[in-house]
Order: sequence, then C-alpha cells, then structure tokens
Amino acid sequence: MLGAAVVIVGVLVTDLGVFPLIVAVTASGLIFKAGFALLGGMSQPVPEPPPPGELRKVKIQFRCSICGSEVRMTSANDEVPDPPKHCLEEMDLVAPTIE
Ligand SMILES: [Zn+2]
Repeated sequence: MLGAAVVIVGVLVTDLGVFPLIVAVTASGLIFKAGFALLGGMSQPVPEPPPPGELRKVKIQFRCSICGSEVRMTSANDEVPDPPKHCLEEMDLVAPTIE
C-alpha cells in the first residue's frame, strides 16, 4: 500500500521507470525490516538453542531413589537431559533450575 504510493510518487517525480522503483522500494523495505528485526533482537535478547551436540549449562539435581545419593548436573546436551543412572536405576529429579 505505502510501497505502491511511493512507486507512484517516484514515477511522477523522477524519470525512472516503474520497475527500478519497485525494486528500490522493495529493497528499502527489506532493509527496514532487517533493521527493525535487529533492533528487536537487541531489545529482547532471546538465547538461541545451541546446535545439537553442544553442551549447555544446567543446574539440575538428581537423587538416587535406592541409596539416596545425590548428584548435580552442571552441563548437559539439553535443558531437560535424561536422568543419570545409579544403582542400575534412573535417578529422580530433585531441583531443576533452568537459568
Ligand atoms: Zn544409588
């Protein structure tokens, strides 16, 4: 809508054809969009998930339901990793703390 108006005004005030103006308006629109996306990204930093296989910092405590041993996981390949095993059983999640 606005782009079309800009193209019409552009045709009237310049001797450029319609097509180069459409290209110019589209390009500037994309640049504006990218700029706003960049600004939005800076104001609201969203942590991107790391690629698979990369470890992420976690703080999760597990307790063995059989012997009562507790372990704290400090890095994992997932925010909610599979519990470790102790006494041949999977340990219970005690305190998941996602930072
Ligand atoms: Zn155990």
